[in-house]
Amino acid sequence: MKTKFPRPKLIVVGSVALDSIATQHASKKDILGGSASFACAAASFFTAAGMVGIVGRDFPARHTALFRRLGIDLAGLRRVRGKTFRWSGVYERDMNVRRTLATHLNVFESFSPELPPGYVNAPFIFLANISPQLQLRVLEQARRPRFVAADTMDLWIKTERKSLEKVIGKVDMLLINDSEALDLTGCRNAVAAAKRLMNMGPSRIVIKKGEHGSMLFSRKSVFLMPAFPVAEVHDPTGAGDSFAGGLMGKLAGLDGLTESCFRQAILAATVMGSFCVEGFSLDGLKNLSKQDIAKRSSALRAMT
Ligand code: AMP
Repeated sequence: MKTKFPRPKLIVVGSVALDSIATQHASKKDILGGSASFACAAASFFTAAGMVGIVGRDFPARHTALFRRLGIDLAGLRRVRGKTFRWSGVYERDMNVRRTLATHLNVFESFSPELPPGYVNAPFIFLANISPQLQLRVLEQARRPRFVAADTMDLWIKTERKSLEKVIGKVDMLLINDSEALDLTGCRNAVAAAKRLMNMGPSRIVIKKGEHGSMLFSRKSVFLMPAFPVAEVHDPTGAGDSFAGGLMGKLAGLDGLTESCFRQAILAATVMGSFCVEGFSLDGLKNLSKQDIAKRSSALRAMT
């Protein structure tokens, strides 16, 4: 798709989806979702982000208009004949419990990501949740990125473990939720799992614990961040992707990899995750101002 933005500092590959979601309060059909959509939207408040993904001809123009309004570069987003990726899920009363009802890969079945010329030298790369084989394909095309992070999910741990292990061996940071970290490593607690994962390659591991916050491990330190307490969670879909997008966007914006940069990035991540769950789809993110983000960041700092 045509682009009019500066070269992205952060590129994000992941899914762009139409989600159908049911919570105890409401059901919504075919709303904008996908790991790349949430991650790019969150990152767009901190840096120039570019999206790599694919949609079908049925993808509504208003969604691409929203991405553009947020300043997201779309040179890497292909639009082809066929249907957009669809995912549907239902949340229990305890919103930490989610069941996937259906995943229709559609245009993703024959997708092979190609980085546009302006993307191959991007210093920051986020491999959002998508098949690890596609994540590897992006890494093969990137030229000496400064910092690469990856996310994953239980499906790939079960179905594409070998490729996932390859991805983990090539990235600087892995983001993973606590139950997936235990599944992947066979360890019994997060600390042991993070150590095991760092032995596979990454110098940093972020273990996400939903409403209980997150832990950032490096070989020298552990940093703990509680979640921002939100009065009403409307839809947790995309919280992990928004968290990751906030983290990578902030790092790219700070343009540094010191311990202080990582801590500021985890704070930004936590804030963006909390805004995401306050609405369905991108509703909690799309109308934010930088002041809203600064205000919540200060509130979180004051609480901790
Ligand atoms: P999260 O709540 O952060 O785990 O992310 C949810 C988003 O991930 C939804 O918007 C889905 O469209 C997307 N998603 C669900 N399953 C997959 C999958 N197998 N591959 C890529 N994206 C997915």
